[in-house]
Amino acid sequence: MKEGKQRHNLTKTGLRIIGILLALGGLACTIIGSIDLFTAISEGEGLPKRFFLLMIGLPMLTIGVAMLIFGFRREIGTYLKDETMPVAIEAGKEFAPAAAALAAAANPAAQNAAAENVCPKCGAKNPAALHFCEMCGTPLTKTCPACGKSVRADAAFCGHCGKKV
Ligand SMILES: [Zn+2]
Ligand SMILES: [Zn+2]
Repeated sequence: MKEGKQRHNLTKTGLRIIGILLALGGLACTIIGSIDLFTAISEGEGLPKRFFLLMIGLPMLTIGVAMLIFGFRREIGTYLKDETMPVAIEAGKEFAPAAAALAAAANPAAQNAAAENVCPKCGAKNPAALHFCEMCGTPLTKTCPACGKSVRADAAFCGHCGKKV
C-alpha cells in the first residue's frame, strides 16, 4: 500500500514537473509563434518561418495545463473542500442572526409573540420561554391540573388540552 502511494505521489510529482515545463514551453512557443504570425500578416508576407512554433506550442500548452490540473487535482479538491466550506459556514454564521433579525422585523406579530409573557405582578415583558419574571421573580407559568403541562400564569385555559385552569 505504502509503495503504491509513494509511486502515485512520484507520478503526480512527475506530472506536475512535466506539466509546468510543457505549459511554460508551450506558452513561450505560442507567444513567439503568434508574434511571428501577426508580424508576417501585417507585413503582407505568407506564412511566417516560425509558424510551426504556434502549431506545436498550442498543443503543448493544452497538454501541459491538462497535466497540471491532473497533478494538482487533489490539492484543488482539498482546497475547495477545506477553504471554501469554512468560509461558507462562517458567512452563514454571520448572516444567520441578520436573517433572523430581518425575518423578525418583517413579521412584527412573531416578534410580539416572542416577548408576550407579561409578568402579572410587575408588568415586565418576558420571553415566552421563561418560567419566572426576569424583573421580580414571579412565576410566569403554572402547571395545568388536567394534563400536567406548563401554561402561562395568567392563562384562563390550558393551551395543550383546552381545559380551564
Ligand atoms: Zn415581574
Ligand atoms: Zn392542560
